[in-house]
Amino acid sequence: MLALAGYPLGLEFVFLDPAAEACASPLGAHLHADYLDQKALTTFVQQIDVATYEFENVPAPAADFVAARVPFRPAPQALTAGQDRFDEKQMFERLGIPVPRYRPVDSLPALELAAREIGVPAIVKTRRMGYDGKGQVRLRNFSDCASAWQSIGSPALILEAWVPFEREVSCLGVRALDGSVAFYPLVENVHRDGIIRTARPRQNDPLQAQAESYLLRVMKHLDYVGVLAFEFFVVDGQLLANEIAPRVHNSGHWTIEGAETSQFENHLRAVTGLNLGSTAQRGVSVMVNFIGDLPPLAELVNIDRLHLHVYGKTPKPLRKIGHATLTADSEPALDAALADFQQRFGAYL
Ligand code: AMP
Repeated sequence: MLALAGYPLGLEFVFLDPAAEACASPLGAHLHADYLDQKALTTFVQQIDVATYEFENVPAPAADFVAARVPFRPAPQALTAGQDRFDEKQMFERLGIPVPRYRPVDSLPALELAAREIGVPAIVKTRRMGYDGKGQVRLRNFSDCASAWQSIGSPALILEAWVPFEREVSCLGVRALDGSVAFYPLVENVHRDGIIRTARPRQNDPLQAQAESYLLRVMKHLDYVGVLAFEFFVVDGQLLANEIAPRVHNSGHWTIEGAETSQFENHLRAVTGLNLGSTAQRGVSVMVNFIGDLPPLAELVNIDRLHLHVYGKTPKPLRKIGHATLTADSEPALDAALADFQQRFGAYL
């Protein structure tokens, strides 16, 4: 989606992706290699003017290698800031951004002690390499500690208080090379099994200004360039930080049709040193993810104002293999379109 947004700007792409079936490969040269493959990294930097990424678990040594040779944006410190959930939460606290109660845990006795201190229900997460609900186990009772420790299979964990949230929201901001910033409207996200199912931008959300101020603190702290996503829980009408993603984000896919400038174009503008484009909404919109399987194409194309994005990935349970954005001129019209869509294709969402 980054490359699709970049082509009209006249940009060309080289992709380094360890996946044989990299879905971006039809749009540029694909270097099929491990992120830490020095030969591939050398070829990569010889062919490009600027590097960026859309996967937050790129290993830090690969980022450092590239950053030493070509501009690498957002910078390696922005990439690594969100890679460890414990470090990330400490950074939020230092910046005065509220977080759920948490403890680092490195053994079963430490987990049991943390569960007593924090209380149950709670959630155990791996510090590293977790996304889309992977590497997470819910603790309903103290007696779940042993089975959680066994099942999660990593010694570097955090225990986090279970947050009885009213809503989950995210805010996407973009910061240019000259430090100017723009923010998209707050998005309300519905998750199931830790995966976003629908993402709907909200006009004039009362928490917009607060979310922007938290994003700005993180962006300045990391000297950030590009799109940054910040996910929050809403509790008692206040924002509690969940996590950041130093990249374009699933909760911003609606911007392709629903905003004046998509998150993808604005990310590319930022990392290539161009001015940012308007983040204003165009009408109202909602994005739905297709998880595991796709509804029949012949039926989807008959839906008025549905914009389809099929990723060309092999269908697999719990895998995001495409999305659609529904657009409308008013919130009631969008409510009706979404309800109708969910009734017909709920099994795929
Ligand atoms: P994460 O990968 O940390 O964003 O977690 C994925 C999803 O799991 C979140 O979007 C929430 O729906 C849920 N979740 C994660 N942490 C908590 C928590 N502390 N309390 C309640 N729900 C949570």
